[in-house]
Amino acid sequence: MKVLVIDDSRAMRAILSKIMSELGFDVVTAADGREGLDRLGEDDGIGLVLVDWNLPGMNGYELVKAVRRDPAWDEVRLIMVTTETERENVSRAMDAGADEYVMKPFTKDVLLEKLVFLGLVKES
Ligand SMILES: [Mg+2]
Repeated sequence: MKVLVIDDSRAMRAILSKIMSELGFDVVTAADGREGLDRLGEDDGIGLVLVDWNLPGMNGYELVKAVRRDPAWDEVRLIMVTTETERENVSRAMDAGADEYVMKPFTKDVLLEKLVFLGLVKES
């Protein structure tokens, strides 16, 4: 499966890309919400989006709402990435249609747990 990683931090994109490739995903990245939506529109192989809440321009929350407005993307799983200081954002993200969330800083195991829960990775 292909995953789209959307984060404005290059370091975060690198970390998430490494973790997701180690878990067997093909990874594409975008630096903001608008670029993320463009990528999603161009590539119908993307089955999962990891999106940072804090992005310049269109933020992660707006991106989740935009994706969920389009029935063509019903099957796309969305995981919201927030920080611990933004706990209240988690329920907003889930209400908007995110499937799961992780809070920064997180470990590979935390992310793996969410992916197993969503049935995107088999428990080993
Ligand atoms: Mg950010």
